Amino acid sequence: MLLSLTFPVLRGSTRHLINRSLQTCRWRVTWKRSYSLLQDEVKSLRAVVNPDISKIRNIGIMAHIDAGKTTTTERMLFYSGYTRALGDVDDGDTVTDYMAQERERGITIQSAAVTFDWKDYRINLIDTPGHVDFTLEVERALRVLDGAVAVFDASAGVEAQTMTVWRQAEKHNIPCICFLNKMDKPAASLRYSIDSIKAKLKANPVLLQIPVGSGKSFTGLVDLITRQKMTWQGNSLTHDGRSFEINSLQHSDDPDVLLAVSEARAALIEQVADLDDEFAELLLGEYGENFDAVPAVKLQEAVRRVTLARKGVPVLYGSSLKNKGVQPLLDAITAYLPAPNERNHDLVRWYQNDLCALAFKVVHDKQRGPLVFVRIYSGSMKAQSSVHNINRNETERMSRLLLPFADQQIEIPSLSAGNIALTVGLKQTVTGDTIVSSKASAAAAVRLAQAEAENRSSSHSVALAGVEVPEPVFFCSIEPPTMAKQADLEHALNCLQREDPSLKVRIDPDSGQTVLCGMGELHIEIIHDRIKREYKIETHLGPLQVAYRETILQSATATDLLDRTLGEKRHVVSVELTVHPLKENSSASCDITFEEDVKALLPVDVREAVENGVESAYLQGPVLGFPVQGVQTVIKNVRLESGTSAAMVSACVSRCMLKALKQAGGQVLEPVMALEVTVGEEHLSSVLADLSQRRGTIFDIQSRQENKILLAAVPLAGMMGYSTILRTLTSGNATFSLELSSYEPMNTQDQNTLLNKMAGLT
Ligand code: GDP
Repeated sequence: MLLSLTFPVLRGSTRHLINRSLQTCRWRVTWKRSYSLLQDEVKSLRAVVNPDISKIRNIGIMAHIDAGKTTTTERMLFYSGYTRALGDVDDGDTVTDYMAQERERGITIQSAAVTFDWKDYRINLIDTPGHVDFTLEVERALRVLDGAVAVFDASAGVEAQTMTVWRQAEKHNIPCICFLNKMDKPAASLRYSIDSIKAKLKANPVLLQIPVGSGKSFTGLVDLITRQKMTWQGNSLTHDGRSFEINSLQHSDDPDVLLAVSEARAALIEQVADLDDEFAELLLGEYGENFDAVPAVKLQEAVRRVTLARKGVPVLYGSSLKNKGVQPLLDAITAYLPAPNERNHDLVRWYQNDLCALAFKVVHDKQRGPLVFVRIYSGSMKAQSSVHNINRNETERMSRLLLPFADQQIEIPSLSAGNIALTVGLKQTVTGDTIVSSKASAAAAVRLAQAEAENRSSSHSVALAGVEVPEPVFFCSIEPPTMAKQADLEHALNCLQREDPSLKVRIDPDSGQTVLCGMGELHIEIIHDRIKREYKIETHLGPLQVAYRETILQSATATDLLDRTLGEKRHVVSVELTVHPLKENSSASCDITFEEDVKALLPVDVREAVENGVESAYLQGPVLGFPVQGVQTVIKNVRLESGTSAAMVSACVSRCMLKALKQAGGQVLEPVMALEVTVGEEHLSSVLADLSQRRGTIFDIQSRQENKILLAAVPLAGMMGYSTILRTLTSGNATFSLELSSYEPMNTQDQNTLLNKMAGLT
């Protein structure tokens, strides 16, 4: 009581912060503390809460499922002192996989942001999911990161999902470090892994270490920059890896190790000199061939420049499970990956140190409502202040500001640029929105941007680029247990949609049923599970169905006339339009154009009504009612009598569109997936035989050590329940990844089978 009267800022969770993040302080709240002492503590707390921007690292960990990123994250938290015991994914007690389903399924679904300090640095780490159903989560995380660590299983090298995420990181120009994990496995192969980084990622690996020992006898590493040898004692059961020996290499060391280090360091110096002119000049000018004399700090600076310019990727090794090599990885994160102020976030300059932040994730909390994760690009954010959301054009109040420590959050008074924070109280904000301090600040940014655009004739959006949401490929109906629960279900689905823009919910116009549309079987299963667990509603899911598309095969012209009297009013409209199939490379979308003389004659509101009519026809194709793609509509004639309403114009256009699309010969397009299966040779033939029954086309079968990698294209319709089938076929000795590749026309026979099935004839 006394505490809150004398210093209201220090309430429960702040106390928690001090206990947690100022571990050295070991502060306990006592009734006898003086006011001035508390103020000193708050000052030092602020320094910790708002570290110097050059000491912040916003980092993502990306990897194929099972490569070990959750284990690696847990070790990072442990060695940085945030957790007191080692979490274990196999026991289901990790910090970052905090949703109940994640603990049960052993996969990472949501990007949990974790903040911790390593040496003098603040690391904000986003644990990104490896499963392809959650690619949007990865995309969201990458948008707000400055650097990334790619974790690989050293016995498998680059696997399918890493390639997808790597491509996403490239798109955002994110500097990366590679961590070859699982070096303790007998099958771990540096050569294979590094070759696959070169071949599959088209990256230039810069090897910064050499491993000491291999497989079970992997005990440590030599750092090629400092020539220091790091050795971890014992096994993971007896040693948690916190302490390890660091020794400079001596002449008395094993001559083989000395020779390997000397050769690898020379190769590193030559490689870096090739990639960095500044280092090349230094080398030529001062050291010539005397590589031993090159100071570690100069080499490290050059590796940093190479990494930031994305000319090369530092590669490190370790075994997270066996507690080896994680501390040097943390050092490398601080040494080579960029601080927020080293990244070019273009539009930040228009805010001139005023607040500009991007909301990149929404999580619903039962007590506190929506919690919004934000990345602050400029200015600072304060608790209990109003902020303006540019995308929604809404000003709303933020009540509290928190630092995210996985499933625990720590309350703070304010947070500065470069940081990632969790806000409480923002009810309108959704993923991808830009938040600034006020409407006036947004207007000032627009003025600056416009002035610049006039000089450079460029565009001038002052909102940060949001997240591209992929189209869902699966859907199914969802029903509450009783009609009385319908409103609760709608509320749950609204909340879940704000968290996850890749989940779409619509009402079927024919049956009136609520329909869930998602990115994969697992995605829909997880949503179903969350509705049950978090919202306590037992729902019934209809059968999972594939989201087909429709297109047309030829051009067709149709006319229509609508003449209807409603009440006193007569509505008369006639329309003539033509639909054309678009060329293949532009087939993903649809188009509307007006013939020139028609456009000139039609008032804007009628044009809009016509466009609405066309758009609504595109939503439901003529064959099976799936969305239409790859069609161009040309409006040739529209006549209407005065008094005709816009709704009637739209209705007439939609009806005419349906006629034209039917005449043009409807064609169903089905989603075709890129499939990669990793399987032991002994099971290859049964996997191949099974895929041919699923209408799969095999492109390639590669060898990876004792495994075969099978690359195929398979219609999504054939892939339902594939994980169970594959497990049965291979006794659990295969993994696969599945990613949407394209929408392809179905052949006549398959299309007829589908039409009969949909009509209930088979
Ligand atoms: P994620 O799916 O990438 O998050 O991977 P996890 O951290 O969940 O690990 C997947 C599996 O690999 C678990 O069974 C871990 O115990 C195991 N694993 C993780 N790191 C290592 C390692 O360094 N060596 C070995 N042998 N296994 C590991």
